Amino acid sequence: MNDLTQCVLTPSVSMDGFAPLGVGVHRASTIVFEDAAAYASRGERGHEGYSYGLYGTPTTRTLEAKLTSLEGGTWTFLAPSGQAANAFAVLPFLSAGDHVLIADTAYPPMRDFTTTDLRRLGVEVGFFDPKSPDDVRAKMRAMTKIVWCESPGSSTMEILDLPAIARIAHEHGALVGVDNTWATPLNFKPLEHGADIVTEALTKFVSGHSDVLMGSITIKDTALLKPIRSLIGRMGIGVSPDDASLVLRGFETFGVRLRHSERVALEFARKIELHPLVEHVLHPALETSPDHALWKRDFLGSSGVFSILFKNEAIAHIPAALDTLKVFAIGASWGGTRSLAAPMSIDGFRSVTSWSGPDVILRLSIGLEDEYELWADIEGLLASLDQAVTNAETRAERHTLRHG
Ligand SMILES: *Cc1c(COP(=O)(O)O)cnc(C)c1O
Repeated sequence: MNDLTQCVLTPSVSMDGFAPLGVGVHRASTIVFEDAAAYASRGERGHEGYSYGLYGTPTTRTLEAKLTSLEGGTWTFLAPSGQAANAFAVLPFLSAGDHVLIADTAYPPMRDFTTTDLRRLGVEVGFFDPKSPDDVRAKMRAMTKIVWCESPGSSTMEILDLPAIARIAHEHGALVGVDNTWATPLNFKPLEHGADIVTEALTKFVSGHSDVLMGSITIKDTALLKPIRSLIGRMGIGVSPDDASLVLRGFETFGVRLRHSERVALEFARKIELHPLVEHVLHPALETSPDHALWKRDFLGSSGVFSILFKNEAIAHIPAALDTLKVFAIGASWGGTRSLAAPMSIDGFRSVTSWSGPDVILRLSIGLEDEYELWADIEGLLASLDQAVTNAETRAERHTLRHG
């Protein structure tokens, strides 16, 4: 063979005895076939075969297989982000004239996708009270194709009675989808509690290092496989094997990271709840949570993320208090090694329920730093709020003294 040809062709080397623990990164667009007949019949290879890079490589299939097994499903599709997984979990099943019901506390971009894009395509979108299966029953219609859940709700942490909601949806012939990002497949198995489809933002705890975006869609019934697979193929949705290998690497430590973060988060939540400027800590594993019994019945553990509601007099001082943090970083997303604090706004993200708490709540994600140093950071933040509230009261008293 001439040199130029040799430069292009890949020589085959022995794989005998090569048994690494890490998963190989198989990059591919083209997949070659042994002969013309194999190429001509490539469509018959089915969803488990390889025919083109977009439809999977051994790297992405390994990640899919791990998720399928942990979720108790039959197949998993990877998507370029958690939000893409949510969108492509519902889109294949909806046409103009259909109706979809969404939990009022769902991840805001998912709410946006339904009210902006699904409505534009002629799908009717309704919201239900996540605490009321009766509300789901009252809102089911003949054309309701999907009931979309997220438990606990984004930021405000309401636990849904998924088995009850799923029974109602199934009686009406609708599918049930659940965004399971908070609990992860280690701490909640929606497919075992009535869901047909479960999505995860692997971006968060599973990948765990704040450096990759990815999502997954796992199905219970193989009847759902073809509609999802064919639509994401036509839409050109796939993930890079390099990104999949980052998620696979994170996956190996995911269990111990999550167990650590959930333990420290719950200890912090208990202590924060005692502070006089704290109205409530929203965390379903707290015995004081109105959703504790439901959480205990269905979940296997909690997560490293929870929200704090401060008393009214403290709200205005939250931004300044956040600036005192030394170990926590300020930022969105969560589930990484670094602990994060993010002020979240709830107003504008509710349609059928009313949020009675303050507009700004503080969401904390507990990472892997030294827990005593993290706690000192939280104490500093609370002390700064205390000081700011005391100063404001002193100013108000002086004002009253001077002006009556
Ligand atoms: C972060 C998040 C998503 C979206 O994940 P991305 O990968 O950032 O798109 C979806 N659902 C929930 C509940 C999330 O917290």
